[in-house]
Amino acid sequence: MKKKMATVLAIRTWEPGSIREIDLHMPDCDMSGWTSAQHVKCKVGSLTYRDYTPLGWDVETSTCTLLIHTGHEGVGSRWARQLAVGDAVAYQGVRSSHHQPAGQSLVFLGDETAIGHFLALRQLAGSDARIRGAVLLSEAHHREEFQAYYPGWELETLRKAAGNYRSWIIGSSGGSRGSIRMRCSTWRGIYLRWYGCGSC
Ligand SMILES: Cc1cc2nc3c(=O)[nH]c(=O)nc-3n(C[C@H](O)[C@H](O)[C@H](O)COP(=O)(O)OP(=O)(O)OC[C@H]3O[C@@H](n4cnc5c(N)ncnc54)[C@H](O)[C@@H]3O)c2cc1C
Repeated sequence: MKKKMATVLAIRTWEPGSIREIDLHMPDCDMSGWTSAQHVKCKVGSLTYRDYTPLGWDVETSTCTLLIHTGHEGVGSRWARQLAVGDAVAYQGVRSSHHQPAGQSLVFLGDETAIGHFLALRQLAGSDARIRGAVLLSEAHHREEFQAYYPGWELETLRKAAGNYRSWIIGSSGGSRGSIRMRCSTWRGIYLRWYGCGSC
């Protein structure tokens, strides 16, 4: 596949800075056919690529935004940490994830690396979509920021720790977990996507 180039237009960092939102101008990319969540295969090192999901895009200006989690040591993480406004980003095309919202009621489960995917599906579903589920975030302040940035979402922010997904899903009798279990069962039939990560 032919390598294409994008330019970094702006970068916003969450506090602490291990989540970076990167605005890209992709003049070679026709976004008019993005009817499902997409992923961009970015060159992050010599012969090394990582996939990132545009969280939103604008067809007219051929711009999109990536949200990249850099809170671990990895090639992609290091690459995203040193990106600056004006940098060129090489990418090997854009592929569809084939994930489309099947209605306006969305249930999301994932960690920082899935936020782009959540937002892409929300853009496709429209601003009236009802969003429920849970997101695992390592940093306490990121959990506050997430709630502040997406106030209408009925999404619980959980501390990223081993087993937190499982206890959230399975729940137990009584207390708040009991109510979570009840909600899980009534969610059957609603669009559900699971995003695991190595540390969950
Ligand atoms: C279709 C698709 C879309 C994706 N979209 C996004 C996106 O929008 N944003 C995004 O940030 N990532 C996204 N990812 C994940 C991304 O491509 C990389 O796999 C991820 O960022 C790790 O790459 P790395 O080079 O930094 O670490 P690697 O070199 O792959 O791994 C280094 C170490 O870090 C650990 N590690 C990797 N990820 C995490 C994590 N999240 N939390 C804790 N430890 C971790 C690994 O277990 C390993 O020990 C997507 C992946 C796919 C397949």
